[in-house]
Amino acid sequence: ANCPIRISQSCSSSSAEKPMPGNSMLRHLTSKIKATGPISVAEYMREVLTNPVMGYYVQNDMLGPDGDFITSPEISQIFGELLGIWCLSEWMGAGKPSRFQLVEFGPGRGSLANDILRVFSQLRGALGGAAVSVHLVEVSPKLSQIQAQCLTGDQSQVSASEDEPVYRQGTTTTGLPISWYRNLDDVPRGFSIYLAHEFFDALPIHKFQGTEKGWREVMVDIDPDEPGKLRLVIVPAPTLASTQLIQADEKRRHVEVCPEGGVIVQRLANRIAKDGGAALIADYGHDGTKTDTFRGFKSHELHDVLASPGSADLTADVDYSYLRRMAGATVACMGPISQKDFLKNMGIDTRLQVLLRNCADPSTRAQLIQGCDMLTNPLKMGERFQFFTMLNHSRLTRPEQSKRGKKMAPVPKMGPAPLPVAGFSELGLS
Ligand code: SAH
Repeated sequence: ANCPIRISQSCSSSSAEKPMPGNSMLRHLTSKIKATGPISVAEYMREVLTNPVMGYYVQNDMLGPDGDFITSPEISQIFGELLGIWCLSEWMGAGKPSRFQLVEFGPGRGSLANDILRVFSQLRGALGGAAVSVHLVEVSPKLSQIQAQCLTGDQSQVSASEDEPVYRQGTTTTGLPISWYRNLDDVPRGFSIYLAHEFFDALPIHKFQGTEKGWREVMVDIDPDEPGKLRLVIVPAPTLASTQLIQADEKRRHVEVCPEGGVIVQRLANRIAKDGGAALIADYGHDGTKTDTFRGFKSHELHDVLASPGSADLTADVDYSYLRRMAGATVACMGPISQKDFLKNMGIDTRLQVLLRNCADPSTRAQLIQGCDMLTNPLKMGERFQFFTMLNHSRLTRPEQSKRGKKMAPVPKMGPAPLPVAGFSELGLS
């Protein structure tokens, strides 16, 4: 097979300048707190990250070596290629439906989608005549522009009105229709593979502290000693969130809950159950064991979550046990499994060897090897990042073969065993 090496390291940013948020976000937050009292960490996070005028994601291209953090798709093309194979394998496992939507949440610079679409284009034969379309859920107009540049060249148009559910659309460089939305609800229904890489960790969390009086919410308030500074406080009375969001049998003393993530998972589960398909969620996370994970990143270093809000990324580990609970029995869930195990099961070692065989340039070779090590080494990204999937129940059951009108069929004949779910067990490529 022809295995091209991605020319640039990733979809690069169109501009390097970073807006200076100054103190406008801090002023906005302090006037809000003065007017209505302390705000929840969730409201703080939502304002800081996605305020339509001055939010961190709305204003910045924060990814890459010159930004605040770097992600797996930016580190190695192999990451996106293996996820492309995963999408194809789930489409096949579902019986190759004739329409196939690839839906990505928070695509950043578009590198993951770009690598996946290259795989789809190369394996066009395997996709048969399926009508493939691409759907991106992205709040940031700035990032959507970078994604459009990466994925379509200049083949995309912004919608005339701001209120359109589809705010941008076009054709990918590989010839597929592509559209941008702000919400999942606006994405058309139909068989879909949903991908979310480092998306759920950016959604707002509530923080709670166990006290002798019961669970209390941790909120953001103005520091009385330094009015220009914010501080975290434990509010004395229960809040709606503290009475609703904690499990009765909770053992931890400090808990973070992301209800917005829970709602998205429930909507995904309903869609997958009705329309078919699967969702793959990859993020740093835990299975209901960690406590205080809320943190900030600026220029690749940890940054105080309350200092100069709007200038740094805010994030919290994804609680997969909570997502699984929210999905309920609507879909089949698998994982979380470590990124190392997932990528090894997907054949990352073989893929690396194939790319190295086709590449003589020593610095590109070194880059490929280092990239794979970064992604899979347990001391780097291999263990902290976890993969989780939600599947239509039919994906894991052996289909009952139709009885073709035979009157007496004492034992229903079963169809072939379902294909194993790639990545979550070893992929037996034949
Ligand atoms: N998936 C990319 C980028 C991760 S950064 C990667 O791994 O490289 C988080 C992404 O989610 C950004 O594109 C950001 O703009 C987007 N985002 C954050 N909050 C969002 C929300 N509430 N709705 C839609 N997109 C959001």
